[in-house]
Amino acid sequence: TPRVFSGIQPSGGLTLGNYLGAIKRFVEKQAEPIEQVYCVVDMHAITVWQDPEALRRQTRELTAGYLAAGIDPTRSILFNQSQVKEHAELGWIFNCVARMGWMQRMTQWKDKAGKNTQNASLGLLAYPSLMAADILVYHATEVPVGEDQKQHVELTRDIATKFNHDYGVDFFPIPEPRIEGAATRVMSLRDGSKKMSKSDPSDASRINMTDDADTIAKKIRKAKTDPEALPSEAKGLEDRPEARNLVNIYAGLAEMSVDQVLAEAGGKQFSEFKPMLSELAVAKLSPISNEMSRLMQDPAEIDRILGQGADRAREIAAPILTKTKEIVGMVG
Ligand code: ATP
Ligand code: MG
Repeated sequence: TPRVFSGIQPSGGLTLGNYLGAIKRFVEKQAEPIEQVYCVVDMHAITVWQDPEALRRQTRELTAGYLAAGIDPTRSILFNQSQVKEHAELGWIFNCVARMGWMQRMTQWKDKAGKNTQNASLGLLAYPSLMAADILVYHATEVPVGEDQKQHVELTRDIATKFNHDYGVDFFPIPEPRIEGAATRVMSLRDGSKKMSKSDPSDASRINMTDDADTIAKKIRKAKTDPEALPSEAKGLEDRPEARNLVNIYAGLAEMSVDQVLAEAGGKQFSEFKPMLSELAVAKLSPISNEMSRLMQDPAEIDRILGQGADRAREIAAPILTKTKEIVGMVG
């Protein structure tokens, strides 16, 4: 049976990038008659330091974000990674299949480890191997992600292929990254060459799902742009990363193509386009953030949903892990 897996780290608050590149797409996917597994990947989050109280809060808040955006926990499986130990166990086996060189080539490792790689956690280097386990412990075949995760899903394919080859089996399926929509790579509002990230130290670089209307308007007003008016066709945005980013965000939120947006907004100055974008962003995000704050008033209910999701996830993962251990030659 085909199965979908994707995850988001509780490494901060949800951003507009996570919404357009990931959650919104999961919600659309949910309409398809395929089993879907959505995870709060807390073991990935601790590859960089997380204050324990903040990690707990962010885990519940991210879960509230999934629910508020429309993930139905009776239809999809929604849980946090650390409650299903099969991820870590398969992750270890994959650490022994994957090669050091594969990990060191990952652009996210290079970005996040910084110059002093000797001081980065070992987990940050091994992260893509645990991500391969997240996906393959469910034999998932489809992985909806933003553009920045494409390389990690490709590495998952390499790990599955090498495992199957090394042990002479046809056990793990080769999953496909699904990178779709108008905003698969939302950029920082301060720097058109950097992706918007929840862990960026600058809060002005991103729109958080929990930002209020004034904050959203202010961040968009201050977003870096160029002095030209908007072009009337997508190709006029080629050398204008900041302008292209704002148009892509508009297209993603409005569910329009970039050309459709430019047919309406072409010729306008940013002084006119930015308020249009703020209004749209507030209209789309505020119902979700209101629902998130309502859900956050009952953390016990959120924990119950995560626990129930974890039980369902384990039912799929446990037999796949047992079979993997048998293939590897582990007794028991
Ligand atoms: P961190 O900075 O801690 O890595 P993040 O914002 O990159 O956080 P992740 O949890 O790493 O978020 O990624 C969750 C999902 O959101 C992934 O599918 C990822 O591809 C997607 N995503 C993250 N940032 C963006 C973005 N700027 N545009 C589109 N999709 C994104
Ligand atoms: Mg990330």
